[in-house]
Amino acid sequence: MDEKILVTKSSMPSYEEYIEAIKPLWDTHWLTNMGVYHSELEEKLKNYLDVPELSLMVNGHMALEMTIQAFGFPEGSEIITTPFTFISTTHAIVRNRLKPVFCDVKDADGTIDETGIEELITEKTAALLPVHVYGNVCNVEEIERIADKYNLRVIYDAAHAFGVSYKGKGIGRYGDASVFSFHATKVYNTIEGGAVTFEDHRIYEKLYNLKNFGIRGEEIVSEVGANAKMNEFCAIMGLLNLKRTDYAIRERKKRYDCYVQCLKDVEGIRILRQEGAATDNYAYFPILVGEGYGISRDGLYDVLKENGIFARKYFYPLTSDQACFKNKYKKVNLKTARKLADEVMVLPLYEDLEMESVHKICEIIRSNEKNKDY
Ligand SMILES: *Cc1c(COP(=O)(O)O)cnc(C)c1O
Repeated sequence: MDEKILVTKSSMPSYEEYIEAIKPLWDTHWLTNMGVYHSELEEKLKNYLDVPELSLMVNGHMALEMTIQAFGFPEGSEIITTPFTFISTTHAIVRNRLKPVFCDVKDADGTIDETGIEELITEKTAALLPVHVYGNVCNVEEIERIADKYNLRVIYDAAHAFGVSYKGKGIGRYGDASVFSFHATKVYNTIEGGAVTFEDHRIYEKLYNLKNFGIRGEEIVSEVGANAKMNEFCAIMGLLNLKRTDYAIRERKKRYDCYVQCLKDVEGIRILRQEGAATDNYAYFPILVGEGYGISRDGLYDVLKENGIFARKYFYPLTSDQACFKNKYKKVNLKTARKLADEVMVLPLYEDLEMESVHKICEIIRSNEKNKDY
């Protein structure tokens, strides 16, 4: 295979469609500051995500930072989260001068192990920040029960869960707030972008202030805010991509199903897939390369690379093991998270990935199976 295959490829409308759609900006010269496309995208996303309230943001990370800030937790409060995630989750907590307390995850799907949460709660605990990792849904009922019992806030990192619904409700309707990422590498993108979903309209006001310097009028600044607004070029990209997102997810599903079909019987390979009441967005295809397989995860990663296939070790290392966080926070048992991080690999998946490439990738994986006799 001479062409490189990366783990993902950004979804885009046609060039002509985008050029046509941005034309009006040359008439109005209104490029940012809550323009008409910003408003339109907020409305359309509320509808698509099945949520009552939504605030668009410049990216998922700032959405996380601002959301945590919006709740005004006392400095030094503890936030219970997981380390089996993108570094952004942990950064957002620490950059708010709060302390991450890492909880282990479940072997079945990589989400927070809810049975381990209560023992981590102290009088300093202010919130839970679980991650719907790979679009796998956390145990939202049990998390809600614990949060109610101890009077904690729940903020979900839903960066991977665009379009996922659980028990007939948009995933963004669980918890006090959920944060989505619309980064170019995500299942739905606005080039860079993100959003926060919630029920309480006061959060909208609060986030509006935080994302726009606290400006409420030409001469009025009501509080200390940052700048985390989405611009109109990104909003237009978002509107066009939203129209094709169902198509993109359907195409991903075909490739996903093909992987499952080809890999389900490979000894030592497990697909990190959740079975349950949630709908799937086919954002990622994570596998675990276990001891029963012919070579190690890193070995397989290298073999794929030699063949021009650039899988990614999402999420290795654990965020708690990164130099900036290591040994800084409470020591807790992260046995399962560590095992997943050591075995996990995300295979290429995007809407126009050649079926032939999926087969080729599976062939490479199958050919390294233990006791393979051909
Ligand atoms: C991508 C991602 C983010 C950050 O989103 P950006 O839009 O890239 O800033 C946060 N959390 C998780 C789990 C992510 O994968």
